[in-house]
Amino acid sequence: MIALPVALLAVVALVMAFADQGPASVLRHLYLVPTLWAALARGAVGGGLVGALAGLLHAPVALPAVERDGLTSQTLDGLLSLGLPILAGLLVGRLVDGSRARAARLAAVLAIQRRLDGPETLEAKLAGVARELRVALRARRLALLVGADVHTALLASVPVGTLVDADSGAAFALATGQHVTSTDLTADPRVRANESVGPTPLRALAVPLVSGAGVIGVMAVEWTGELSRATRAAAEELALHMGLAVENARLTLRQHRFAEELAEKVSAATARLRELDQAKTEFLSVVSHELRTPLTALQGFSELLLRSALPADRAQRCLVYLHTEACTLGRIVGELLDLSRIEAGRPLELRPEPVDLAGLIERNLEIFAAEHREHRFRWSAPGSEVALRADPDALDRMVKNLLSNAVKYSPRGGHVSVSACSAEDQPGMIELAVEDDGVGIPADQLPRIFDKYVRVPHPETATARGLGLGLSLVKALAEAHGGRVEVESLPGKGSRFRLLLPEANRDF
Ligand code: ADP
Repeated sequence: MIALPVALLAVVALVMAFADQGPASVLRHLYLVPTLWAALARGAVGGGLVGALAGLLHAPVALPAVERDGLTSQTLDGLLSLGLPILAGLLVGRLVDGSRARAARLAAVLAIQRRLDGPETLEAKLAGVARELRVALRARRLALLVGADVHTALLASVPVGTLVDADSGAAFALATGQHVTSTDLTADPRVRANESVGPTPLRALAVPLVSGAGVIGVMAVEWTGELSRATRAAAEELALHMGLAVENARLTLRQHRFAEELAEKVSAATARLRELDQAKTEFLSVVSHELRTPLTALQGFSELLLRSALPADRAQRCLVYLHTEACTLGRIVGELLDLSRIEAGRPLELRPEPVDLAGLIERNLEIFAAEHREHRFRWSAPGSEVALRADPDALDRMVKNLLSNAVKYSPRGGHVSVSACSAEDQPGMIELAVEDDGVGIPADQLPRIFDKYVRVPHPETATARGLGLGLSLVKALAEAHGGRVEVESLPGKGSRFRLLLPEANRDF
């Protein structure tokens, strides 16, 4: 590329020789043309070289004239023409070099920006950026560290696998936020360089990456040979840009993650709402069914009693049925009323008083044993009297719910064990446990069973009647007493519900 300006220079020199017009000839300005051409094409080196050649070619014309005529305005002009091409070549060449370097830096900045805007992880982005930077800075090695300290920071290096240890200049720059420049890394007492690259000194620069949040990382660069001021300035300028760009990329990633989490939460909430909506629809149909069953029985038996004169023992049996179904209706209506109270956010009305827990359990066990002959009920009474203050009606409903579930969800019969005592693992609490060896509950369903309308499908209990409200009421009642309800269950093995209520001397 420099050959053409040199050829043009030769042509100008020939024209000057043939024209033979002396050192101040107007033609001498023609030397500037190839000089500027070379400067534009090859920068300061090209411009300086061709300018120097031009000066040399003009010397045989300019110098003899000085010797011959002394220092006249014409010979002085000729002398000036010796230096002018060199000066112009160097000056224009430097300007060209500077603007080329700026263009290269801008291209590197854009490439970095593009890399950091990509969809990959921050590690992958940093690896790409490290490659771009190494090419842009013509470095031997380059490492980017993003993070608060050298041990935990993300590291991207070219060549891949370069380690940055705690004694390095990069670690020092990261810890102190100061720039570290080393003109001979292997001899620098501040850092420990593991490697020597022979006689050529190893230059290194570690520049902190700074964002609005302070020092967020460091860029460490190594060069062999001379490290020009321009290269150093370029490295610092790129590091300045990197700090902001990395912070932006991190914010964008955080924003993406946040948006994803939000979308997940919204879709989970939507699914849950849909589930609840579905459950409510099912609930309405189950409620109507649950109400209709005892009502039909009530109508049937009462009609029978009204229309026909039944023998006393049959009439007595009808009355027992009527009573049982009326109790069922009462229980359902009670549950629905409690539910509407809970839904409306009104507190459950409790009238706490000292209760004989053992007596209450025993009465219920008698009723259940009489109604469910295929089940065996076991009762472990408390060793000593437990002091409990509770709303007897609420406590009765909790016990009935747990017992009725234990029976309902062990459809083939089995054992139902009930115990009451002071909770060993919960000082100040009284524990009432109901255990069955029924169908059990899958682990993933356990957290849901205390929610309203939730019923866990199981082929063996498909015909079991229920509204999916019992346990949510037990939970609400237990919490209203200052207690709680817990469950352990294994599918196919059975379940154990534990009702924990505070002892009488504790307030709720
Ligand atoms: P339900 O009226 O359906 O019995 P609950 O709120 O009392 O409503 O119980 C919710 C669900 O929890 C039941 O539908 C059942 O699937 C499960 N469940 C409750 N108790 C037991 C138990 N002892 N054994 C197995 N599953 C149970």
